[in-house]
Amino acid sequence: HWSRICERLKAEVGEVEYRTWLRQITVGPVEEDEITLYLPTRFLRDWVRGQYGDRLGTLWNAEVPAIRRVELQVARADTAPPAPEGEDAPVSAPAVAREKVVSMPAAPVVDEPRQAEVRTDLAAPLDPRFTFDTFVVGKPNEFAYACARRVAERPSSPGFNPLFLYGGVGLGKTHLMHAIGAELLREGRVSVAYMSAEKFMYRFIAAIRSQSTMEFKEQLRSVDVLMIDDLQFLIGKDNTQEEFFHTFNALVDAGRQIVVSADKSPSDLSGLEDRLRTRLGCGMVADIHATTFELRISILEAKASASGVVVPAKVLEFLAHKITSNVRELEGALNRLIAHANLFGRSVTLEATQDVLHDILKAHDRRVTIEEIQRKVAEHWNIRLTDMSSARRARAVARPRQVAMYLAKQLTSRSLPEIGRKFGNRDHTTVMHAVSRVTELMEQDPAFAEDVELLRRMLES
Ligand code: ADP
Ligand code: MG
Repeated sequence: HWSRICERLKAEVGEVEYRTWLRQITVGPVEEDEITLYLPTRFLRDWVRGQYGDRLGTLWNAEVPAIRRVELQVARADTAPPAPEGEDAPVSAPAVAREKVVSMPAAPVVDEPRQAEVRTDLAAPLDPRFTFDTFVVGKPNEFAYACARRVAERPSSPGFNPLFLYGGVGLGKTHLMHAIGAELLREGRVSVAYMSAEKFMYRFIAAIRSQSTMEFKEQLRSVDVLMIDDLQFLIGKDNTQEEFFHTFNALVDAGRQIVVSADKSPSDLSGLEDRLRTRLGCGMVADIHATTFELRISILEAKASASGVVVPAKVLEFLAHKITSNVRELEGALNRLIAHANLFGRSVTLEATQDVLHDILKAHDRRVTIEEIQRKVAEHWNIRLTDMSSARRARAVARPRQVAMYLAKQLTSRSLPEIGRKFGNRDHTTVMHAVSRVTELMEQDPAFAEDVELLRRMLES
């Protein structure tokens, strides 16, 4: 079980974070509904508890439903766990516990807080390509763009602090934040610090390890404009969230500007502390919508003309039709075409495009079918495929059927009536009900949510 959980954690948090914190965990005994996990130092124990405690609980529970709680204790893998507290503890207890611990694979013991480097320059490098000039404005992003411009012109204006930018992957959040930074630095009157939430966490960790949190705080609190990108990264990282919350308050109270980006609106960022979400929503909240065909064409035109390579309108239209999800991919495809044209001195044609972008285009053709979804879901809950369209209403088949409808809505572009038809000619209201029911259940039951997410990932890959 543990190695499966480790795999999941590694995939979720990334190799570096996993190795820094989670690989140090060793598994202790299970007692009733509680499992004990050991960490070699108190520092690690507290950190893991604060950042990953809830997640570990959920993962263990999903893996072994009988386990409902995770206890984190300090003990090195090569020594016994601390003796039970209280002098009446039975003499044999520590010995039993020791045996269990010793039989575990030895985990590397971390050195105590290492001297870590804390950089004094907080102004992170800004990508010089990400300016207001190179940002193509259209209906889906014009509001966010206007807000960003406004903040760059007059930071800390009432009503625009904090500025909260949100939207899907690759829609230009980072671009706009860098543009704000570049503009402010060009004026040269203010100090700007831009960093990803992930970087914020690592700097905070480094500061704790080198016992320089005071300096870290002072540095952060001395900037005029603080920009934190991809705040959703702080979900489940309670210690870092807490620190960010205090920094945030100190800056706003001192009349400094905060700019934050995330993939969801403040109210949808469940997993962030309520008081933080509330404060994030207090200034200006601007969303960047998915691109439209027109905007994709404008972006492609701008990038093509900047490159100096002639790309026929037909090719641009073809790309804008095919690659709809995110601007980064659209840009990547165009860049590859341009590189090809430059390298081989050939002109760009539709035929050449299909050839050069063969792999990218294939990936975008891939669509999950409702049949595939039904098959995977039926397999997962061990029910018959025919029950996806049968009239049976027993919970054991009705629930998986609802999940399949939910996933069909999420992963395909089929309409509700079309989906209903595929499930034994059910009405579209049945599908609608299934979608809201599953959404609700996912919110209430983390183990169920895990299952659904896992299925989604399997189907998407
Ligand atoms: P996000 O941070 O929202 O995931 P990015 O800001 O990193 O997205 O944008 C991804 C890529 O797409 C970047 O290279 C960026 O310059 C480009 N891009 C996104 N939106 C636009 C736009 N409206 N105009 C020009 N380039 C854009
Ligand atoms: Mg980004």
